[in-house]
Amino acid sequence: MQPNRRLSDFLPLKFANGNQVKQFSKPCVRCGTMLDAKQMNGIARLVENHIAIAATAQCPKCSENFGVACVINPDKQVKRVVLPRVLFNLYLRALPVQKNELSAESIPNRGAMSRPEVRDAIEDAAEIARRQASAQQVKARDIVRSEEALGRFNEKAIPAWLLLDGQRFDFERIAPNAQVGEGEFLLDDCLIYRAKV
Ligand SMILES: [Zn+2]
Repeated sequence: MQPNRRLSDFLPLKFANGNQVKQFSKPCVRCGTMLDAKQMNGIARLVENHIAIAATAQCPKCSENFGVACVINPDKQVKRVVLPRVLFNLYLRALPVQKNELSAESIPNRGAMSRPEVRDAIEDAAEIARRQASAQQVKARDIVRSEEALGRFNEKAIPAWLLLDGQRFDFERIAPNAQVGEGEFLLDDCLIYRAKV
């Protein structure tokens, strides 16, 4: 597995069509300061003639830390990656070194051969993972909330348990980003419940 490094150490990266990515910048999610690759730590790889980036950026102005995960196509269009950045980062670091990564120039036809069919394999995988996750989450028609509350979140009571179509589910955790796992039920877009065992 490759170590995370300063993102600028990976640049420039060259596509088979000759386009190069020399710079990579992102605005700070908190204060809007433009950060460049020197202020990001992670990995950038050439995968299927796309540049894939998974990094953590630190803003020099407000010291906010935020994740960056994206794929750049040979026309230099940047697409966001849906997969959690941590997984994407591990995936990219574990990926074996490909021939075209060592020298894009030595195999000039590679881009031409694959370009029409090139899709973001990584993005597709992410989309599938996301759909599977939502398919595995518990859905219920009949929801009964317990009178007993464990506390409040976002001004609303957190029911200690729920009856979902007659089956009891206990409160598990708060999920502000609404990320639901297999066998879990999402209430009010932020509370996670699990079947009582
Ligand atoms: Zn900032």
